[in-house]
Amino acid sequence: MSQLPTKKCCRAVDGGNGNLQLRRGAEEQEPRADSPNPNDFIRSAELVLPWLASSELAYVSLTCKALHRAAKSLTLRRSLDASRGFEKFPVPFVNSVDDLPYAYFLYGPSQLLHSLDRQPWGSVSPHSAVTNSHMADAASGDVRVGCDCERCGGGGSSCPCLSLEGLDGVATECGPSCGCESECGNRITQSGVSVKLKIARVRGKGWGLFADQLIRERQFVCEYAGELLTTKEAQRRQQEYDRLSSTGHFSSALLVVREHLPSGKACLRLNIDATRVGNVARFINHSCDGGNLSTVLMRSTGALLPRLCFFASRNIARDEELSFSYGETRPRPDSESRPCFCFCGASSCSGTLPSEHT
Ligand SMILES: [Zn+2]
Ligand SMILES: [Zn+2]
Ligand SMILES: [Zn+2]
Repeated sequence: MSQLPTKKCCRAVDGGNGNLQLRRGAEEQEPRADSPNPNDFIRSAELVLPWLASSELAYVSLTCKALHRAAKSLTLRRSLDASRGFEKFPVPFVNSVDDLPYAYFLYGPSQLLHSLDRQPWGSVSPHSAVTNSHMADAASGDVRVGCDCERCGGGGSSCPCLSLEGLDGVATECGPSCGCESECGNRITQSGVSVKLKIARVRGKGWGLFADQLIRERQFVCEYAGELLTTKEAQRRQQEYDRLSSTGHFSSALLVVREHLPSGKACLRLNIDATRVGNVARFINHSCDGGNLSTVLMRSTGALLPRLCFFASRNIARDEELSFSYGETRPRPDSESRPCFCFCGASSCSGTLPSEHT
């Protein structure tokens, strides 16, 4: 009977820091200085994985145990903040309905004139995404008007930019061409979401946006951020979204806003698409009774285009879902697209979601 050879090489137990070490036998070579180190591998993976979309991440995590673990902790970090560090408070995903950890989309804190292809999310050491100004590139116009106040907000202020009165219609704020600083009291919608929010899974409705603190009546909640599209492009995308929706498991977030002149004739149409790039507002569901948010078109002095902003229309308790009315429910003229069913739960619910025939 021959003796079994003794193992010359084995994995050393060295305190469990994951390092692989070779116990050197006489015939083994010194490990070369440039040989791959598993820690380097994980460090590189941690740099690359945050750039992947959820589907790509799922694929990569199947390749080996180390990447599976890295993808798992990345998924956890993503579920802790939908805003990718762009907002003052993290916006967590909460799900007690199914096992989806988060919804994948690119984060834009304000309106964008251009699209984004990639953006990291869930990095181990987060880059500081929070910028001083949330005003997007779309906001800066060439119009050289604006105030030159010492103090714009507060009592006794006569700032010409200050006209936030009725919560319906077009309101104005100080803007890029005003002399005041970003802390001016007449720029409340310009530094992003200032209340604590969370995104929770709702049975039958998908994700919804919820208050994570008491929000006072008339308090600013967020704006509707996304890609600004031409009407032609909006119509093209809507057709594509309708087609994708009919196969299920797809929901679009293209909002059409019309700014009316006092005469009642539509004079400006904003097409904001938050399907790929957007902010927390893309999760706000429709309510047939008008919900608890009112919308205000906000124009910053000197800015080219207004932004759609949401304010609390009454006190909103912590854990309450935020909602607004998407518009009137009208049957679509084309019989091909089936209506989307509404699950808002309001007593006045019409049963179908309003949709824009573009
Ligand atoms: Zn000001
Ligand atoms: Zn002013
Ligand atoms: Zn001003």
